[in-house]
Amino acid sequence: MEYKAHCHCGRVRFSFRSPEIRTGKRCNCSLCSRRGAVLSWTYIPAADFTPHHDLRDLGVYLWNEKVLSNYFCKTCGIFTYIGDGENAKDGYRVNLGCVEGLDPLALEISIIDGKALPVIEEPG
Ligand SMILES: [Zn+2]
Repeated sequence: MEYKAHCHCGRVRFSFRSPEIRTGKRCNCSLCSRRGAVLSWTYIPAADFTPHHDLRDLGVYLWNEKVLSNYFCKTCGIFTYIGDGENAKDGYRVNLGCVEGLDPLALEISIIDGKALPVIEEPG
């Protein structure tokens, strides 16, 4: 299926192809527990993902070992997707709350035990 998505104010837009989304993930790491988003089940391959066209609209938050880029809209502050660094060779994980026509809280949600991953620590 083809999914379109945007941030709250609509400045940041992205799209991707994926099998029908029936499940989502939440994560209990120190970042995800604060932002509370429902994430895509897995990373969307870069070949199936069209990120926002203008990087000037996006803020990026790097933490931990700085291998994951957490993108957010500079205007409304909404987290939109995660890419694995500058090249995003393994694709993007999406904030499902941004996806048009999808109710993320109606999905079957499972938990990523990010808190238990040894590499994840508080920033600082
Ligand atoms: Zn926005």
